[in-house]
Amino acid sequence: MVKGISILGSTGSIGRQTAAAASRLGIPVRALAARRDIDRLEEQCRALRPSMAAVTDEAAAGELARRLSDTDVRVLGGEESLTEAALCPDCDCVVTAVSGSVGLRPTLAAIRAGRRIALANKETLVCAGEIVMAEAEKYRAEIIPVDSEHSAIFQSMAGRNRSELKRILLTGSGGPFRGWSWEETENVTPEMAVRHPNWSMGAKISVDSATMMNKGLEFIEAMHLFAVSPDQIHILIHPESAIHSMVELLDGTVIAQLGTADMGLPIQYALTWPERCPSAAGTLDFVKMGAFHFEEPDYSRLPCLRLAVECAGAGGSAPCVLSAANEAAVAAFLGKKIGYHRIYELVDGAVSALAEGGHPDLEEILRKDRAAREFVNREIG
Ligand code: NDP
Ligand code: MG
Repeated sequence: MVKGISILGSTGSIGRQTAAAASRLGIPVRALAARRDIDRLEEQCRALRPSMAAVTDEAAAGELARRLSDTDVRVLGGEESLTEAALCPDCDCVVTAVSGSVGLRPTLAAIRAGRRIALANKETLVCAGEIVMAEAEKYRAEIIPVDSEHSAIFQSMAGRNRSELKRILLTGSGGPFRGWSWEETENVTPEMAVRHPNWSMGAKISVDSATMMNKGLEFIEAMHLFAVSPDQIHILIHPESAIHSMVELLDGTVIAQLGTADMGLPIQYALTWPERCPSAAGTLDFVKMGAFHFEEPDYSRLPCLRLAVECAGAGGSAPCVLSAANEAAVAAFLGKKIGYHRIYELVDGAVSALAEGGHPDLEEILRKDRAAREFVNREIG
């Protein structure tokens, strides 16, 4: 079990569940970080007593410092403060639960300090997977996935040699619009898109689950985490969300991890690995579920998923452009500036205009990330 953690994105859905798991397991929280939700951050600081709180919004940081002046919590402001929170003393694990590629720099800093990364922030691996995994190997930093599918694959591979793995069966519920044609989703509103049937998550990932861009990002995340090629990943729609993913071994044996649809489980496992502890999750009731169903994804109805799988195959800066353009487009959709179908059109446009092959270095990745966001915002006008 880890000895002290820093939670980047502590006010979000994963961050709050991480704080709850840490309290239950008695793991000290050394640093908290968020963007601007200082009401929640103040509450968390008073309950968890970290030594540091980082707020990327400078004005919000100032206000939090004023509010916490009766405590010994050090409040830092600005984007660089995320990295300081990742490098906080007495912490051997950084939970990356910010949403978006803003997680990249602090994650790399924590890796270079040899800390365990409990990785929820998939955008970091999507945009710079080659660089992140190479640095983790160089600095012997453990990367333990928090994303439920990747945690399931990680758990299914426990004690097994990588050479035994034939392919990954990446499962997904299909989201709120499973069975809808692309045309039928034209007038989908943000309120409709964030209402996921099985999981309760932050707004951005909920929209990604609706478009199934999320499964595409997870496809790329899995390639990097488990060093597999695109043709070794098979996506399966499994509406019950009980099997969180599976691995097929060389001899045809399939190993799966099952559990209730509760992110508390993979979060806890990333903190306690390689041990297991009792958790707050309920048990699966197989009789009540009755049956498990599986379908192939219909790529003709899921253009975002198709595009993401194409970008996974293309490599280079394509995944970074895809992810950054998607972040900007989803933010615009949530802000009611664009309709649902524009998300795909804008991301597709950005990929066509900007993606390049090769092995981009960090500077190039950050340049492409910026260019993709600018492309989308320019198109929206
Ligand atoms: P939320 O939107 O609920 O929370 C995002 C968190 O990140 C908040 O604490 C937010 O702070 C913070 N944040 C966002 N932008 C910045 C920034 N620029 N600087 C500093 N902090 C920032 O997201 P989720 O918890 O749902 O998701 C977090 C990550 O985990 C994502 O990468 C997602 O893909 C991944 N994930 C989430 C799952 C889930 O069940 N929710 C499942 C699997 C993966 P503030 O509140 O102040 O805005
Ligand atoms: Mg997932």
